[in-house]
Order: sequence, then structure tokens, then C-alpha cells
Amino acid sequence: MLKKVVEAITLAECNLPPDVENMIRRAYETETEMGKAQLKAILENVRIAREMRAPICQDTGLFSYYVEIGDDFPIRASKIKKVLIDATVEATRSIPLRPNAIDVLTEKNTGNNVGQGIPDISWDHVDGNTLRIAVLPKGGGSSYVAKLHSIPPAKGLKGVVEAVIRSVFDAGSMPCPPTFVGIGIGGTEDLAMKLAKKALLARMDENSKNEELAKLEREIVDKANSLGIGPMGLGGRWTIFNARIEWASRHPATLLTGVCFSCWALRKAFVEVSGDEIRVYQ
Ligand code: SF4
Repeated sequence: MLKKVVEAITLAECNLPPDVENMIRRAYETETEMGKAQLKAILENVRIAREMRAPICQDTGLFSYYVEIGDDFPIRASKIKKVLIDATVEATRSIPLRPNAIDVLTEKNTGNNVGQGIPDISWDHVDGNTLRIAVLPKGGGSSYVAKLHSIPPAKGLKGVVEAVIRSVFDAGSMPCPPTFVGIGIGGTEDLAMKLAKKALLARMDENSKNEELAKLEREIVDKANSLGIGPMGLGGRWTIFNARIEWASRHPATLLTGVCFSCWALRKAFVEVSGDEIRVYQ
């Protein structure tokens, strides 16, 4: 399985997923002059990275893994954790990747993208005997502008939209726009941020199947794009490509909202194990 996880990391780092590339191409068709030139350069970058099997960006990110493990899956979680850590080290060497894990006390770089609590691994226990791992390496520019908002509950979803748009405005050109925005509404403070980041794993050329959420996602995209920040912050129609929402029930006194950005280089890949079959895909 280690080889397959390294394969997924390589795919995520060197090849944008189709939903992400679709959105960049769609934006390119309708963008104005300066922004269009930026999107053209981005698409050229994507093509070269794919052909050369080289990382899409010099910042190859800090690693998060999302694991859905079936109760009857034959390999224990502790062994899967070891595979994910070893695969991170091996991919850092073989691709190679920029080492990004810094010890916060000594300021030393571990040199292999593994450190205290990193890679971050989230576990979801499900029925059945399959395993699904999502690989999400994320650059520092977009993580720098992540926000947790505590919104007065009386403001409701209107307050959520206002907070997200304020975050997009404050982020400006920092996260290399156009961005993809993950939003986590409700839950506890840690859960709101976790949901926001997890929302980046959703297909980005689609909206929620829940019509109310889809409407909210579209409203956020329209309002964010009216800011005119544009590709790389140089002005234009596209400041964000899409927004995806995950939610959890909230406490009566809170309406916590996490906002998590990914730059245009939204890198993700998946490994699925079912019986003897292992599939790596984006
Ligand atoms: S924000 Fe994204 S595209 Fe910009 S430098 Fe960081 S990883 Fe690269």
C-alpha cells in the first residue's frame, strides 16, 4: 500500500484534478485581459508540470490525510498511520518535495515533511471492509489566510455570507487567487475549521446536492467575484472559482464558521482499497 500512497502523493503534486482544471479553463474563457494572461500562465504551468512529472508549485505543502476506514477492513489503523508517514517521507525524497515541517520550538526543519502532529491524519470509521484515503497537501499562502468566525446566531446565514466575503477581501492576493473556498458552518470551533478544510475535497466543478446549500455556495461565488481582486490579485472577474460548504449542527448560542482557502493549485488525490483492488485517482 505504501507504493500506492506515494503514487497518490505524486499525482496530487504533479497533476491537477480534472474538476480543478475544468474550473480554471472555464474561468479562462470568460476572464478579462490581465486576468486572462494570468490564467493562461497557470494553465501552461499545469501542462508543463504534468508532462515533466514535476511539482505544480515550489511550495509543495504540508500534508493532511483523510481516512475512511471500514470496521471490517483487515489492516489496523496504527499500521495505516505508519504507511502514511513513511509514504510522506518517501515522496519527499523521490519526487522530490520541498521540506515544509518546522519544529515550532527549535525552528528546525525536519527535512522530510514529517514532524510533531504532521502529517495530520483524520479518521472516519464507516461500515464495511473498504479503505479510502484522501491526500491533501496544502501550501502556506492559502493556509495563512484561513479564518474562524464566531457569528452572532441572530445574524443567521446572512452573517455567514458576510463573514466569508470579508475573509476573501482580507485575503486579497495572498492565497494566489482565484481560490477555492471551503466553508464549515456550525459545530464546535475545531469542527468548523475541520469541515471547512474537508470541504476542499468536494468536486469543485459542482455544487451541493442540497439546493439550499448550492444556492448559498453560488451567492458566495457571485459576491466574492464582485470584489474584483482577480487572478493573482491583478484585477478581473474571477477572485474565487467556487465555494463548497460542509455543516454540522450548532449550539443555540454559537454560529461558528470556518473559512479555508486553497489557491488555484488545489492538489488532491485518492487511494481506494477494496479486497485485492487498489485504485489511485483524482
Ligand atoms: S498559494 Fe499555492 S500557488 Fe501560491 S505559492 Fe502557495 S502553493 Fe503555490
